[in-house]
Amino acid sequence: MASWGNRSIGGNATQPTNLKSFCGGFINMVFMVSSMLSGACATPEFLMYMNYFIEKEYGEDYYKRADEVVDLSLKKRTIDKVITDCFQQVVYSINQPTGARNFQSVFWNISYYDRYYFESLFGEFRFPDGEKPHWESLSWLQKRFMKWFNQERLRCVLTFPVETMALLTENGDVKDKEYGDFTAEMYAEGHSFFTYVSDNADSLSSCCRLRNAITDNGFSYTLGAGGVSTGSKSVLTINLNRCVQYAQRMGIPYQKYIEDVVDLMHKVQLAYNENLKELQEKGMLPLFDSGYINIGRQYLTIGVNGLVESAEFLGIEINDNPRYTEYVQTVLGIIEKLNRKYRSKGVMFNCEMIPAENVGVKNAKWDKEDGYAVPRDCYNSYFYKVEDTTLNVIDRFRLHGVKYIEHLTGGSALHCNLEEHLSKAQYRQLLRVAAQEGCNYFTFNIPNTICNECGTIDKRYLKECPHCHSTNVDYLTRIIGYMKRVSNFSAARQVEAAKRYYATM
Ligand SMILES: [Zn+2]
Repeated sequence: MASWGNRSIGGNATQPTNLKSFCGGFINMVFMVSSMLSGACATPEFLMYMNYFIEKEYGEDYYKRADEVVDLSLKKRTIDKVITDCFQQVVYSINQPTGARNFQSVFWNISYYDRYYFESLFGEFRFPDGEKPHWESLSWLQKRFMKWFNQERLRCVLTFPVETMALLTENGDVKDKEYGDFTAEMYAEGHSFFTYVSDNADSLSSCCRLRNAITDNGFSYTLGAGGVSTGSKSVLTINLNRCVQYAQRMGIPYQKYIEDVVDLMHKVQLAYNENLKELQEKGMLPLFDSGYINIGRQYLTIGVNGLVESAEFLGIEINDNPRYTEYVQTVLGIIEKLNRKYRSKGVMFNCEMIPAENVGVKNAKWDKEDGYAVPRDCYNSYFYKVEDTTLNVIDRFRLHGVKYIEHLTGGSALHCNLEEHLSKAQYRQLLRVAAQEGCNYFTFNIPNTICNECGTIDKRYLKECPHCHSTNVDYLTRIIGYMKRVSNFSAARQVEAAKRYYATM
């Protein structure tokens, strides 16, 4: 966008030349892109571009002079204030509801990178004028944005951006210790965001993914941790609970039946892809043509829902035991096998445990109506039962660890629900647990309290407002991926939210 403006997708802006026009142009771009898509608008390079324009205006060492007054107006704003005003403009604009999306706001994701990811993803990157991105200033800006956003969320319910911190791991710990410590510090300060860990710095880099014949290292979870301009062009979801029970009714081995269904799903996805190609040939997909989305880097995704419920039906205990591991590997292995089989030069498939905000409820309802065994009104989006009080925090990381997620090429997210915030040292230890267990994508979820009487927002999970002592309080929680008021989720999701077990350490 910094190099193209938005004329290529029907807008009237030429390329931005300064910080102000960048921020304005960025907001317009997110709205334009979102109006053409139903999914998320991921802009992992947002801060990198912003950093470039700040440097152009205040010098490469601006972050060392953040207290310097640079404004001749009566406000006498410092560099730091100019920057946080830009954050405010962009974040508040994007969190506005939009008419074309049922008055929901657009779904916006950003990413932060540790030094190693930065070097791997952007080491060779050049801005249109030939400049390189600078790590020291970008690192400062990333941290400044996180600190600002965490504080701003005490003033206002701000759902977006969904943030992902990408950390490289080595020998059972994060490699960039500074960023590991900072990540733990932000969690301890009550900030809510995702962390992505991998021992392969190329895993987020989609150009590397294209170079490799195999996609094992690929990762493009629809919630956000994707690399640059990747994602899913279509998600079709299999309801495993129904498939397993139907197979049993028909007297077919469930493995065989799942394979048949997944095979059919691939054929439907290929048909969809042909349609997309035809639309593109006719010039109907300006986002693809203009390079905002690279069609060659987009996956056709096989989504998974009802996995835990299908295992329960088969009498398998849902915890880290060999029978459950084998079941998960068998089922997801079938999907991966077919994903490889159907892969061709122009088509890539992946498999994802989808968040299923609505589908999880619908599948349960439809299955119940058709007489199938339905253990809960909303199917899980995790490898464990969300209401299970016997699993501790480490168990949950293990159940989203390498044994369970290895065939999920599109990812899954562990939402680790906690009753109260942990200390920096405890979060830092959990980063090691994640690295050792191979749990590559996770967040911690501690419900924030919002007072319905006076509007106070508190990062803790409280029964009464700390300011006016009213007990008329609501909670902000990350039910599925993004934070929102519990009362704004669907009725069945609210029931599910109430049943969740928030662990204590
Ligand atoms: Zn209050």
